Amino acid sequence: MPRIKLPDGSVREYPQPVSAAQVAADIGAGLAKAAIGAKINGQLSDLNTLIEKDSDLSLITAMDRKTGDSSPDALYLLRHSCAHVMAEAIQRIIPGVQLVYGPPLDTGFYYDMAVPAERPLRADDFAAIEAEMAKIIAEDRPFIRYEMPVKDGFKKLEGERNKYKLDNAQRATAAGAKSLSWYITGVPNILIRSTDGNRFLHVWNGSDSTNGFMVPEASLSGGRLDVSTRGFEPGNFEDNSGALPIWEDLCLGPHVPSTGRIGAFKVMSLASSYWHGDENSDRLTRVYGAAFADKKQLDKHLNMMEEAKKRDHRVLGKQLRLFHIDETVGQGLILWTPNGAAVRQELMTFISEELRRQGYHQVFTPNIGKLELYKTSGHFPYYQDSQYPPIIEHEQIEMLAKEGCSCGDLSNKLRAGEINGYLLRPMNCPHHIKIFDSSPHSYRDLPVRLAEFGTVYRWEQSGEIGGMTRVRGFTQDDAHLFCTEEQVAGELVGCLELVKIIFKTLGMNDYRVRVGLRDADSKKYVGDPKNWDKAEQACRDAAKRLGVPFSEEQGEAAFYGPKIDFVVKDVVGREWQLGTVQVDYNLPVRFNLSYIGADNQPHVPVMIHRAPFGSFERFVGVLIEHFAGAFPGWLAPEQVRVLTISDKSNDYGKEVLAALKKLGARVTLDDSNERIQAKVKVATDMKIPYLLVVGPRDAEQRAVSVRAFGIAKDLGSIALADFISSLGRELATRGGSTVMKDHFSQVPVST
Ligand SMILES: [Zn+2]
Ligand SMILES: [Zn+2]
Repeated sequence: MPRIKLPDGSVREYPQPVSAAQVAADIGAGLAKAAIGAKINGQLSDLNTLIEKDSDLSLITAMDRKTGDSSPDALYLLRHSCAHVMAEAIQRIIPGVQLVYGPPLDTGFYYDMAVPAERPLRADDFAAIEAEMAKIIAEDRPFIRYEMPVKDGFKKLEGERNKYKLDNAQRATAAGAKSLSWYITGVPNILIRSTDGNRFLHVWNGSDSTNGFMVPEASLSGGRLDVSTRGFEPGNFEDNSGALPIWEDLCLGPHVPSTGRIGAFKVMSLASSYWHGDENSDRLTRVYGAAFADKKQLDKHLNMMEEAKKRDHRVLGKQLRLFHIDETVGQGLILWTPNGAAVRQELMTFISEELRRQGYHQVFTPNIGKLELYKTSGHFPYYQDSQYPPIIEHEQIEMLAKEGCSCGDLSNKLRAGEINGYLLRPMNCPHHIKIFDSSPHSYRDLPVRLAEFGTVYRWEQSGEIGGMTRVRGFTQDDAHLFCTEEQVAGELVGCLELVKIIFKTLGMNDYRVRVGLRDADSKKYVGDPKNWDKAEQACRDAAKRLGVPFSEEQGEAAFYGPKIDFVVKDVVGREWQLGTVQVDYNLPVRFNLSYIGADNQPHVPVMIHRAPFGSFERFVGVLIEHFAGAFPGWLAPEQVRVLTISDKSNDYGKEVLAALKKLGARVTLDDSNERIQAKVKVATDMKIPYLLVVGPRDAEQRAVSVRAFGIAKDLGSIALADFISSLGRELATRGGSTVMKDHFSQVPVST
């Protein structure tokens, strides 16, 4: 007798197990028609999932009718279902394609496949694939789940000779799966209700019983086969042979009820990938697609992609000479060229000023530390796979060689942490802990706030790195706060205030925070549950006070404490996860930290780790795309360029240059013999905020003719002294264009 609780708090009771679809139908015909899936006790599920015990249920519709937006759950269902449709379409066009793995993404989905060498997949296949997909969608074939016991499932997979699916199944069972599930796209050919009264329908594909598969009664609802959208009436025997094609895929699900529910889709692009992301393994073809609830959403997405392409920081980084990646230095290691370094330096200065205001102390610590240190912190061996191997001293290697240590022994010893080398640090925390611990503390000294632009190194698979957003060495805007239990709440608020100031200055006004909390009943967390409750409440309160949207995510906490993540939306509408603020009860214990409390007794401090922008690499990568390379005046690598109309004005040009240099501006002079139009074009391509064109008349009047980036025309001339004072104010306040506000009342547009 399941009692089903709906999101509005109302409860429905049923005398027997009921499908989510049936509950939707009981609520109303409109909802039954709009629903594409269900969330049962927080678990995203097929709409026809049978609910057998008391549960919380919310129904997922493709989109919100008022806003036209879709929830992440709805998009997940649409995209994952569309991945099946695309895979089926491709298999129709290219027989012999073997499917590997096809997950949904934040922006769409992909499917990795092994394509026959003699018939590669090409971009000019897209139109045919899309036509085939449209056909499958028009057929409105249901997605039907069926399960098999692991043993039978493996037998079936071995018969099908797809090693990739077999591997997926092996990994699922290794992770604890008790059965294997498939999804059929299509109406079963023949249905026979089991005669022995057990819980299964047997569905036979054709007349060959060896192709049989079973649909659990879960897909039955009120005596009807709920998955059918064609008025299918299951009796003891129903023959549908030849009705529609059937296609199936090993899959955990869930899916939308039928292909017709996929609103709009597009095959986007091809890439090559490797099985398990391992470049020594099979080479695969990755096909990317997009799927949305309707065409309007898809078009919006395609426009965004177009805009994003123009803003790609890897392209702009090269064009604006912001950074360089050199194969001989190493993949994922960013070389900050002078232009990019100017941006980073401005950000560092800005953040440092705010840190001082908030009572932080800046420190400097080395990029390496003894392995011992990271054994204490637990970074070794727990995060060993994302670290560079330890650096070993010469003498030690020679000693090992003398002892007859082979390369294999050495490798094993390194893995086991038996050789005391140095690690390129994966985190700054241990160094800061050692600074805190270098002197005794009383409760009166707390909080101690230690900040460092600390460089760390992490090992990333080479397939995963590119540009500034996935790198192997990066500098965090890191800080560690050591405080008392009572101070945690106030310190969290301070951390978030700092982020707010910086986002505001950068014009990133659209951001949200995620509060990561622990699972209610998990045992993997360290520390006293009472302290956890307090810290979680402090995170919630701090997020609430920030006044931006926030969500609470159960089970997203680190094992050592709750955290707050920042997700910023750029002008194009893409979301970027930046850094975090984390409360930590673990490291202070591991490092045996203490302070003397008011009771004269030693106490363990609480630590807060915070790197709200993550790393400068990632943050500047995001900023390049956010500004489309057109940085505001204070942040621009080159703030002003003086352009002389002819060599008659070169002397005055030099004078203007000197005056602006005196102001501290990053300014250059173009007194080349090029025509002025050509000089303007070159400077505009570099997205310099202000171009000052100077000719003989400007020299005579001690004026400059201003062109601002984003305004195509010449704005006219103003006195040099006025330009300097306005620019000075703009740079000091890190505001918008003061020059424009003071003199021209026109607002430059970016891009
Ligand atoms: Zn699937
Ligand atoms: Zn830390």
